[in-house]
Amino acid sequence: MSSRFSLQNIPAGATGVLLTDLDALVRNYEKLAELAAPAECAAVVKADGYGVGAGQVGRALAGAGCKTFFVATLAEGVRLRAELADTVIYVLDGLFPGSAGEFAGSNLRPVLGDLAEIDEWSEFCRSSQREMPAALHIDTGMNRLGLKTDGRKTIVSEPERLNGIPLSPIMSHLACADDPDDPKSEMQRADFVSVLANLPNAPASLANSAGIFHGKGFHFDLVRPGIALYGGNPFANRDNPMEPVIRLYGRVIQTGLAKAGETVGYGAMLKLDRDTHYAAVAIGYADGFFRALGSSNKYPGAVAYADGCPAPILGRVSMDLTVFDITDLPEGSVQRGGFLELIGDRFTVDDAARLAGTIGYEILTSLSTRYHRIYSGGGPPARGA
Ligand SMILES: *Cc1c(COP(=O)(O)O)cnc(C)c1O
Repeated sequence: MSSRFSLQNIPAGATGVLLTDLDALVRNYEKLAELAAPAECAAVVKADGYGVGAGQVGRALAGAGCKTFFVATLAEGVRLRAELADTVIYVLDGLFPGSAGEFAGSNLRPVLGDLAEIDEWSEFCRSSQREMPAALHIDTGMNRLGLKTDGRKTIVSEPERLNGIPLSPIMSHLACADDPDDPKSEMQRADFVSVLANLPNAPASLANSAGIFHGKGFHFDLVRPGIALYGGNPFANRDNPMEPVIRLYGRVIQTGLAKAGETVGYGAMLKLDRDTHYAAVAIGYADGFFRALGSSNKYPGAVAYADGCPAPILGRVSMDLTVFDITDLPEGSVQRGGFLELIGDRFTVDDAARLAGTIGYEILTSLSTRYHRIYSGGGPPARGA
């Protein structure tokens, strides 16, 4: 990547740079698609493509042959439709009361999750005299969205409620796929199979990223990876099988020397045990660089890198600033106006997540709009670029 990407031509005022390697994203997609074949591989691009940019991600994946996308909200669907004319787009939140016309207007498919939504969509199809496809969500143990026990019984005993709605796919969602040893996934799979047997014949979909790695029995007709596309580890306790997609760089706005015995940052949480050269970087928790990544004398924190050399964080992360120890770096390698790598191959999205007590999903979706965003690879350039 470094060969194709240089931190030159960055706007002088940019405090941080978020680099997305769309070629790596496409390779991750191809890996998942190959695992899932002959099932179709969709892409989940909710929350602006997990914070990375739904338009850029969508175009790159469509260029690689992805035909089906999932977003969370109607507004996300409308925006993605403007980028991708000829794809199937599902809205996971389903139908809000009175929103059917907007779905139809942007050629979006709701994921119907309860009887009221089914009735409303069916009525809309009837009154507009069009058969518009929708997905049907069955709850198999998540207790979040989807038809639960009563709704499942009703739809089996009154299948006419689905009249006029071409169902594609019938889907459910795994609660514990990130732990391959958790028996809940197999219970959900078996339950899903039993519901499918009582519903009209339609394509089926169960697996998220981690579910794809559970084997053929979980693939059905369509898989729905999200996090793995973006290089996040789909597993809680296994090595990451995916390739990193994002890199984050923070601008050094000042360097300085602090004496042994002095402290760094708010709360004076870190007392220095040696004279320390430091770099103040213009990235903070308001950029999604979590406050929990800070260090104290008791706890180590995030580690930034310059040319592959580690620069450990010093003290607390402030709103817009973070300080790193550059004492052990070659002299002159970190200068005012330069950059430190805050997230990359060495300190990954998942390393940041572990340290912050969260998951890679939250690190990605918290990435700030303040970053100057660069996309490398991914086929033809963006529309209007
Ligand atoms: C977010 C989501 C996915 C993708 O999950 P990942 O774990 O990111 O792969 C798939 N299906 C549904 C219903 C989702 O909400």
